[in-house]
Amino acid sequence: MADCIFCKIAKKEIPSTVVYEDEQVIAFKDLEPQAPVHVLVIPKKHVESVLALQAEDKELMGHILCEVMPKLAKDLGVDAKGFRVVVNTGEDGNQTVKHLHFHLLGGRSMQWPPG
Ligand code: 5GP
Ligand code: ZN
Repeated sequence: MADCIFCKIAKKEIPSTVVYEDEQVIAFKDLEPQAPVHVLVIPKKHVESVLALQAEDKELMGHILCEVMPKLAKDLGVDAKGFRVVVNTGEDGNQTVKHLHFHLLGGRSMQWPPG
């Protein structure tokens, strides 16, 4: 999508610190980290949010959650103590970038409920 900042990051039109990449997915450090480890995992194809996912995206979502996320948690050293995966969605979810992204946050103890 032409005006989407995360599509531009996926295409390397905007620089980012990439920590993982494959054909379908890219993960990069958040510009304003909220924890010692704060990475965004996104599908390279533009999907606006969880609400825009289609049945054909099941394999892609399974890949992100079953394969990429645990690999990143291990590679980033947060698997032993734990971490949080967050998908902000829509207005009340405070989603600021309209390209589906999974926040992987770790390296400190998280609070509940979130703000
Ligand atoms: P949201 O609020 O939509 O769940 O999360 C968007 C996240 O993207 C925020 O944590 C914000 O810091 C991050 N972000 C916004 N623009 C950029 C950017 O250009 N580069 C990187 N690396 N992160 C960004
Ligand atoms: Zn996009």
